[in-house]
Amino acid sequence: MRWEDEKQTKNFEDRTNDKVTSGGDLGDILGGLGGGSGSGRSGIGLPGGGLLGIIIIIAMLFLGGGNLGSIFGDLTGTNTQQQTAPKTSQKSKTTMGDSTDTRKAFSRTVFQMLDDFWGPESKEYGINYQSPTLVIYSGKVQTPFGVATSDMGPFYSPSDQKVYLDTSFQDELANTYGSKGDYTMAYVLAHEFGHHIQNRIGLASAMGRLQQQLSKTEYNKYSVCMELQADYYAGVWTKYLESRTTTKGEAVLEQGDIEEAIKTASVIGDDFIQKKFTGQVNPETFTHGSSADRVKYFNLGYKYGDLEHGDVFADKGLRNPVGTPTR
Ligand SMILES: [Zn+2]
Repeated sequence: MRWEDEKQTKNFEDRTNDKVTSGGDLGDILGGLGGGSGSGRSGIGLPGGGLLGIIIIIAMLFLGGGNLGSIFGDLTGTNTQQQTAPKTSQKSKTTMGDSTDTRKAFSRTVFQMLDDFWGPESKEYGINYQSPTLVIYSGKVQTPFGVATSDMGPFYSPSDQKVYLDTSFQDELANTYGSKGDYTMAYVLAHEFGHHIQNRIGLASAMGRLQQQLSKTEYNKYSVCMELQADYYAGVWTKYLESRTTTKGEAVLEQGDIEEAIKTASVIGDDFIQKKFTGQVNPETFTHGSSADRVKYFNLGYKYGDLEHGDVFADKGLRNPVGTPTR
């Protein structure tokens, strides 16, 4: 991706130096809400823990089932919360640098490119668009629903319309999933931005109502559709980016960028993650969809480049809670 000289979003909060020390992190809070064990983060583990649904209402995650830190924590009983970024990181074709400052700059630039597209695009569909905010943090961060930790992975919070990102997630994608390269992170941000569009359409609140009404298994089906639609929206944005040029007149996208996104989608499906970390696959507990579906809907978004073809709910035989926007 050619991004270095492009505009960076001003809707940005640098909270990397925040001192978040209060007790009662998200695991405790959700444990209390969900009637779980309440012992730290054990509640935010694999799907099926009873608490994941609550997280989804208030925070739309990038990965299913919490994240690897919490999965490992549950499986091994060790606290992996304080994982530190490895010093060596294999470079991909484009080196975006490993410094936190470079990562902040990159994330802000991608966020601006997302805003540049979704602002006008939303207007065409009559969506009441507001620009979201990017929060970069390190380790822990205060959110409207409690203290979140980086082992949750990136997430979007509908109530304050903010995307929360710990840039060390990039190392986790590279080291755990082998997903490297700058467009991997662009796809992550585009997925979270997709949740913001869903929020503006009314899907976030509709999902909250559905969760009250449906069994956990039924609700998970809707959750999967919502997540796959966010992947579809990431594809839609990628389509736009294909024709976007830098201030110097060069194409923003480089050879291999789209393949990076597809590669990432193919290793973050619930089936892949469950198999990798538990040795089993249980589709009933999927919350984000299979790897094949994540690739499929990213590709469809990239193919059509519009919202009309993004009704994943209908595709899966469910009623779309908010319908599909039309121009
Ligand atoms: Zn998501």
